[in-house]
Amino acid sequence: MAILVTGGAGYIGSHTCVELLNAGYDVVVLDNLSNASEKSLDRVEELSGKKVTFYKGDILDRDILNEIFAKEKIDSCIHFAGLKAVGESVAKPWEYYNNNIAGTLTLVDVMRQNGCKNIIFSSSATVYGDPAEIPITENCPKGQCTNPYGWTKSMLEQILSDMQKADNEWNVILLRYFNPIGAHPSGKMGENPNGIPNNLMPYITQVAVGKLKELGIFGDDYDTPDGTGVRDYIHVVDLALGHVKALKKIEEHAGLKIYNLGTGHGYSVLDIVKNFEKANDVKIPYSIKPRRPGDIATCYCDPSRAKTELGWEAQFGILEMCRDSWNWQKNNPNGYDD
Ligand code: NAD
Ligand code: UDP
Repeated sequence: MAILVTGGAGYIGSHTCVELLNAGYDVVVLDNLSNASEKSLDRVEELSGKKVTFYKGDILDRDILNEIFAKEKIDSCIHFAGLKAVGESVAKPWEYYNNNIAGTLTLVDVMRQNGCKNIIFSSSATVYGDPAEIPITENCPKGQCTNPYGWTKSMLEQILSDMQKADNEWNVILLRYFNPIGAHPSGKMGENPNGIPNNLMPYITQVAVGKLKELGIFGDDYDTPDGTGVRDYIHVVDLALGHVKALKKIEEHAGLKIYNLGTGHGYSVLDIVKNFEKANDVKIPYSIKPRRPGDIATCYCDPSRAKTELGWEAQFGILEMCRDSWNWQKNNPNGYDD
């Protein structure tokens, strides 16, 4: 059974490819390499001991999508491909709406023309906006997003849900990720951001490796135990395993399903700094900076639906997340470019 993994060379996609191959699926990756290196797929093959079929191309390109469906026996698609930099999306909204929304519309149109109506979509906790309840369940209403990136996720959830309601041959699973961090425990795969990282963990690892001077903590006056923002960090391998469980659900003809993928624990920015220092015996200098526009105080989930319905639960704790993030960074200071 082959799974089409769009964006499979990226951070979450590459880790998911390993777990899919380990679970016995054949994997076909489509990625335009706009934010990834093909070398990540060499590592996927090394770690799994299996081959990946790779197509370098764009989800906006019907020809390559048709070629894939003609040549490969695709049963389901796990759709990671998309642009994801929040700040860039504010500066380039058209590029984000075109890539993420027009790209997904093209993908699902070619899928249905080829009789493939199973999709798992990478959504995000950002669709909850400033959440109406903590911990966040899937019944929590969606909220106002603060940037075009977030809106692409919210709108794509709506589009895929409407398509499933109109045609119940579709099986659509929306996975709302909380804050993925960590790396493959082997140290051979991890996050490889371009330029100065926007997200907390890659920023910390680049401070630890000496590329950046100090961490700026965005605000210490939130209504949280230590004043810094609280998030639900989840190990990327746990997230990857969540996709394998979601595929099993698709195989049961699930219809439309929505799952939070998080640990259910909230950690503040200072908690992360302290745990990183403890796990790795390195110091992270930091200073307090103003709040970052659009940030919320607290965001963590209730992951019990995924446990009950998918049989999935996060296994890795915060120290392991910190250990594996650092293990990847220190062994690959320039990501895949070594
Ligand atoms: P990533 O940038 O590492 O991976 C995305 C991949 O998609 C990249 O390899 C990129 O080259 C590819 N891509 C982008 N546009 C494409 C296009 N038009 N055609 C083909 N390939 C294209 O990001 P990631 O962190 O692995 O995220 C994967 C998915 O999960 C994204 O949809 C992202 O929005 C979503 N997500 C990520 C996070 C996070 O914190 N990392 C949180 C919630 C949701
Ligand atoms: N953060 C920070 N400094 C940084 C990056 C992030 O203090 O350089 C904080 C941010 O304000 C938030 C948390 O770390 O409270 C997680 O931010 P990230 O960008 O990793 O994920 P988000 O939850 O915004 O998607």
